[in-house]
Formats: sequence, structure tokens, C-alpha cells
Amino acid sequence: MIKNQLSQSNSNFFVVITAPHAFCPKKTIPGKRECDFRALNIANLLAKILRKKNIGFRTIYSEVLRSNVDFNRNKLDLTPSNKYSLEEWDKFQQTILKTIVSNSTKKILLLDIHSFPNINSFCKKGKNDCYITILDVHNKNRPELRQFAKTSEMPFTVNVEPGGKNYIINTYGDIHVPASTNTIYPILLEFIENTSLLSDEQIEIFFNKLLEFPFLNEMK
Ligand SMILES: [Zn+2]
Repeated sequence: MIKNQLSQSNSNFFVVITAPHAFCPKKTIPGKRECDFRALNIANLLAKILRKKNIGFRTIYSEVLRSNVDFNRNKLDLTPSNKYSLEEWDKFQQTILKTIVSNSTKKILLLDIHSFPNINSFCKKGKNDCYITILDVHNKNRPELRQFAKTSEMPFTVNVEPGGKNYIINTYGDIHVPASTNTIYPILLEFIENTSLLSDEQIEIFFNKLLEFPFLNEMK
């Protein structure tokens, strides 16, 4: 069972970490992809970094296989294997919503964490700058994300792609809690699963840079 964590701090900045495909089977079936194999470790690594920096956060991880229900898809597009899965979907989204509402006086960074197995998923032919890929909100093309990838001087390159219709970043970025001036900044992050192409240490450097980047500092 995956344990969700909540850590509070006095700062005016709060991070919501979602990992909708983090729940993996004990035994894998060759050729069948049922989860993001590295997502849970990476989300936990981020939680550790935030705790060290005394930044409040909440982790929201799936506890159902992606093949049963995909928490990053619109409910109407799901073909779940049973009714229980739809209830799980509601529960997952309600947890995100409640977390946003109960931190509505703060500026919120929403990081939706995923991992991918295949280099071709995001690398254009012959490129190797895709091991960390940032997906933007659909049709938003926020320039500061591209600027961050270009200028933050990491010992590896970061790829930014236009986002698709991923449910979480496209839904909760637009929520405004009445009578509050809350700001929610959503980003989807994809990390390659091969640890010799991308180490945990490199991911830690990336998160530290991301948390220091001016567009977030303005939010803090
Ligand atoms: Zn995923």
C-alpha cells in the first residue's frame, strides 16, 4: 500500500504532488505496461527535498493500477473494469480538490509526476534531451517554462513539450476558490525510467533548480 504524506509549514507556498500512475503490480506481465515504474520513487524524492526546505506539501498517489482506471483521464473517457474503479477516480480527484481548497490562501505549485520507458516517447530522432520532459498545459505554451529549460544551467538538458489533454494539469490549474487570491501553477513532469541515462542525483538537481526558478519565487 502506498502512503500519502502531508507536511505543513508556515510559508505562503505549497506543493501538491500527484502521481496518478504510481501504483505498480507485484508481478509484471512482459509487454504489458500497467504503471509508471519510477514515478513513486521520484515523487518520494521530491517530498524529501521539500521537507528539507521546509516547504509544505501533500502527496497524492494512485492505489489502483492504471489499467483499471486512469486518474489522468476525464471520467467520461474512461472504460473502467468495474464500478469500484470509478469510485476510486472520484476519491482521487476529491483529494486533490480538498488539498487545493484547504491551502487556498497559499500559492500552489502542482507537480504531476510520471515516468516513461522508451527513449522515443519524447526524443525527436537522435536527440537525447528528453530524459526530463516538461509537459505544458494544453494550448498554453508558457514561455517561462521554455526559458527555465534553456537557462537554468543544469548538467543535462530539459525538454519542454506542448501538453495534451492530461486531466490533472488541465483541470486544477483553472480552479479558483471564491474569496481567495490563490494561484495554482500546474506542470506535468516525465522522467525516463533508465537510471543510467538519468540518475536520482540528476533529478534532485532538477527539482532544486525548479524550486529556485524566478517564476516560482514570484509566487512564494
Ligand atoms: Zn504516467
